[in-house]
Amino acid sequence: MPRRGRLLILILLVVGGGAAARVGGGQHYSGSHSSSSHSSSSSRGSSGGSWGGSHSGSYSGNYGGYSGGGSASDLGWALFFVSHPLFTLALIIVAYVLWRAFVRSFGSLASTQRVLEQADARPIQAVSARDVTAWVDALQRRDPRFDLVGFLDQAKALFLRVQAAWSAGALSPVRADLSDATFRRLNVQLALLRLQGVRNVTADVAVLGLEAVGLEQTSAFDTLHVRVRAQARDLDVPAAMPPQEAQSRVSRVAAEPFVEVWSFVRRPGVQTKQRGPNETGRCPNCGAPFDGGAAGNCTYCGAIVNSGSYDWVLAEITQQSEAGAAPGNVPGLEALRATDPALSLEVLEDRASLVFWTWVDAQSRTRPGALAKVATAPFVSELQADVEALRARGRSRAFLQCAVGSVDVQAFDLGPDTTHAAVEIRWSARMGVVASGSAPGGLPVIPQRWVFTLERKAGVRTDADRGMATARCGNCGAPLTDSLEPTCEHCGAALNDGGHDWVLAQAEPYEIWAARPRAVATAAARAPAQDAVLDMRERQRMLFLMAAMARADGQVDDKELRMLKLCAERWGVPFEAVEQALRADPAVFERMVPPPGPGGETFLRSLVQMALVDGKVDRQERRMLEATAARLGLTERLPELLSRFGLG
Ligand SMILES: [Zn+2]
Ligand SMILES: [Zn+2]
Repeated sequence: MPRRGRLLILILLVVGGGAAARVGGGQHYSGSHSSSSHSSSSSRGSSGGSWGGSHSGSYSGNYGGYSGGGSASDLGWALFFVSHPLFTLALIIVAYVLWRAFVRSFGSLASTQRVLEQADARPIQAVSARDVTAWVDALQRRDPRFDLVGFLDQAKALFLRVQAAWSAGALSPVRADLSDATFRRLNVQLALLRLQGVRNVTADVAVLGLEAVGLEQTSAFDTLHVRVRAQARDLDVPAAMPPQEAQSRVSRVAAEPFVEVWSFVRRPGVQTKQRGPNETGRCPNCGAPFDGGAAGNCTYCGAIVNSGSYDWVLAEITQQSEAGAAPGNVPGLEALRATDPALSLEVLEDRASLVFWTWVDAQSRTRPGALAKVATAPFVSELQADVEALRARGRSRAFLQCAVGSVDVQAFDLGPDTTHAAVEIRWSARMGVVASGSAPGGLPVIPQRWVFTLERKAGVRTDADRGMATARCGNCGAPLTDSLEPTCEHCGAALNDGGHDWVLAQAEPYEIWAARPRAVATAAARAPAQDAVLDMRERQRMLFLMAAMARADGQVDDKELRMLKLCAERWGVPFEAVEQALRADPAVFERMVPPPGPGGETFLRSLVQMALVDGKVDRQERRMLEATAARLGLTERLPELLSRFGLG
């Protein structure tokens, strides 16, 4: 890659990285999206450049060599070729062979790049006016007063109120409108910023457009997805900086556009109330003023204001491309609904998200006990051991600008005593293992795909009235406190045994989860469509997995480095973050290495799909696949995978 191209990418990355922590850290997801699309376009430019460069370079070099050897005239050259026919023929053959090799390897490089670039440039979910009319009709059937314009106005107002609350660092004014997981997420993100000694300030927040982009209806909830296009100036400043100085600093930062999907949920059949302009901050049930206490209960009528039983509640903020994915058939869901009719994927995903943010918080603050109320005792002690081992080395894990891309229930496993739910969480963070108590410095953005396994005792039923209030005691409904006890302070019930609600039993990268016998069937049944490898972040993640494998056996040699670079170029993903990770504490990779056997096969299958996006596997791709298969002990499986996806 020519220096100029690399410099351009660096600048883009720096610019992208500087765009700090907008609300919900969605910035990170969208930020990495935009920076990767930038860098894909610049890597396109630079790969063309590098070709042009070495191409013309080697030509002029040869030419110079020749002309240096003999200062013959053009006529002299012609005479030379005519009088040496064998040499001329040999030269032509050599040129032809070189050209074929070029077309084979780099022709395919270009065609792979082309397919991926087209995928990146895909217009985001086109929504037709007819779709929107159908969604409005569906909602009006049970709620005749539902009106899309009014709803979008409210969504816009909430968007601006959330931005303001975020900027002020106090979320209570929007507490009643957020699901428990969304509330926890924003709070954890604010706390992590404070932990770094910074505060995020925004200015000139403007909504450029809102549109409904999807409606999902289940017996438990209606979910309406709204795409928000907005822009804002946004900057991280030292926490102690006086507000006036912070405002003047942020006013000099360029306003950046961003797109997010906000997902609102409500119990089916809830009636739209006419809300006056002064009615925000009131109980949606009785209209009494709601003081925004962390409890989320109306002190007047006792209603759980954010359950979704009274009004729309903001359940998720996701990056555009991941929202609205068809839920599909979740194995085990029907069987579980037979004993727990109120079970709702929306609620379970909110609970998983709540657990995820608590997990990030617990590790960042080296307080595994923070999970005591939402994870099993063995899980908490395992995390405790991890934290202690790092502490012994004077280190801890850092998760900066953590953002969640999607949360999806993959499968249920109904055992005689325990029910397990596998929930896939795609997320990313600038993360690593850093010296405790110091500024973490430059950390690579690492895209992650994990499966959180939640468990619950067989026969436990979902309490439909609590809805999206998922940070509550499963026994008495009291809000969970911040204490490190695994019991409810209100009723004394044990909260960490799955006797009342889902608790975290296992958290692991997708490939490691997929290696489990039961998961294999599930993963195969829900094999990632080709779309999965076409996703920019999934490609980035695969590159990190390759780097993790290279790093796992010690030094990364030049050959391995070349292969990683080639994959980065081919897949149109920036290599700098991987280089940064390779220089970092090796612990950053420790949980990413795909295991040998079935888990490794999941990874190898993704690589095969990636190699085949342009319908062919060239020599370099084959070499890369063979090397990876050998590392995973799957050399014999490779031909079958290739033939299954259309090549022998
Ligand atoms: Zn009330
Ligand atoms: Zn309780």
